[in-house]
Amino acid sequence: MATIAENTAQKVARPEVRQTLCFIGGKWIPSASGKTFDTLHPATEEVIAQIAEGDAADIDLAVDAARAQFDGGEWSRMDARERGRLMYQFADLLEENAGELAALETLDNGKPISDSRAADIPLVIQCIRYYAGWADKIQGDTIPIDGDFFCYTRREPVGVVGQIIPWNFPALMAAWKWGPALATGCTIVMKPAEQTPLTCLRMARLAQKAGIPDGVINVVPGYGPTAGAALVTHPGVDKIAFTGEMATAKIIQRAATDTMKRLTFELGGKSPNVIFADADLDAAVDGAHFALYFNQGQCCCAGSRLFVEDSVHDEVIDRLIAKNQDRRLGDPFDTETEQGPQVDQAQFDKILEYVEYGKQDGAKCVSGGKRHGDVGYFVEPTLFTGVTDDMRIATDEIFGPVLSVMKFSDFDEATRRANNTTFGLAAAVWTRDISKAHRFASEVRAGTVWVNCYDVFDSAAPFGGFKQSGLGRELGEAGLAAYTESKTVTVSLG
Ligand code: ADP
Repeated sequence: MATIAENTAQKVARPEVRQTLCFIGGKWIPSASGKTFDTLHPATEEVIAQIAEGDAADIDLAVDAARAQFDGGEWSRMDARERGRLMYQFADLLEENAGELAALETLDNGKPISDSRAADIPLVIQCIRYYAGWADKIQGDTIPIDGDFFCYTRREPVGVVGQIIPWNFPALMAAWKWGPALATGCTIVMKPAEQTPLTCLRMARLAQKAGIPDGVINVVPGYGPTAGAALVTHPGVDKIAFTGEMATAKIIQRAATDTMKRLTFELGGKSPNVIFADADLDAAVDGAHFALYFNQGQCCCAGSRLFVEDSVHDEVIDRLIAKNQDRRLGDPFDTETEQGPQVDQAQFDKILEYVEYGKQDGAKCVSGGKRHGDVGYFVEPTLFTGVTDDMRIATDEIFGPVLSVMKFSDFDEATRRANNTTFGLAAAVWTRDISKAHRFASEVRAGTVWVNCYDVFDSAAPFGGFKQSGLGRELGEAGLAAYTESKTVTVSLG
């Protein structure tokens, strides 16, 4: 990860919080119950703002607004090119407000401002622009069926989509969900994560300013088992797109059965990152550090199982420990900070519990393992060696800065153990041998494979999980599929 030279160090100003209510049908309204919940700054644990706490009644209103907009057809039947133009305008407004959005993300999530500025918000803008380009390129086929008929398909918007997102990349997850929904002409009810509602609400306002019609994007902040669950069972919702934990996805999958909703899930992982002895070790060590510690380890695709070939194992460990010692933890508004706090107390507690499990199960904690400081949810970058495949720190998603390192001795062992997981989101391999790299890429059961790199994301490249890491794909052309229904039209020519 790039560090910023000392003479450029600066504190970025905290942004003003402007949007705290539900955004329904283009209006800002309190929740029907009048209830609110607090959102905190994870570095100081102080309350930033009270947010309207939406529930079933608010979801009803939001679905009505989205339904009326969809069924009325202003958005879904608008010329596709015009829809694209409004999306480009939205992307331009996001870009004009990028500084504010980055600071809001850092305030709500605690991630370092240098990451919000360099990764989250630029990717948000790229994603909306990418899908703006798709709006007028979504087309069907003509089908040569038997007989005197003309047969063709149309790809129509799936309708009202319910979107439920997590707190690790709040603005980016909103963009991944809004991009394909807007391009295809769907209307949206989004429930952001209760920990991080701020950027999503701000983005909804910018979409409105860009001219996206009222009722196209509705945002209801609130909790999962109340607002989220109401969205999942609502008969007026045609599809649910969810990003979060596998356990939550299973609850949603069951709850969505009665109304036969279309579902896409982007879930967790325990992604294998494999370093062969013939790799460029400088790049591999930097990559392994970044793969796990980026975003405080709070990435669904974090490279949390690091497999290192035995002949270079000890050297890699020494170098990783040195990097952890150099890592700058602290105020996320300081442009030099590399690691901020975890998002909340619950995540902080869970991570430290897994550190204890690691020790109990017999792994060796060679770096970190403790709280950093005494205010905020900071956890030291932590590294375990001597990890075996059955330990809890090797099987479970920790979602924090805890790296489990395993030794291996040949290619077959590495791929077999890499695949020894219920997850299948991502994987990476470090080697100078091009055949080995491609063989690994073909044998590993994961939706994304990085070769000699990690966490390279682009809106054009599909992302999603094999096995219990997901259902369907987001991003790229593949990401449009789940937002359209195919309609077959057959015309008699007789
Ligand atoms: P995470 O560990 O990332 O918080 P969750 O799956 O708990 O993962 O949360 C992701 C999103 O799912 C959040 O917006 C949360 O409020 C929502 N959620 C949690 N439980 C439910 C549920 N039963 N039904 C619908 N949404 C839920």
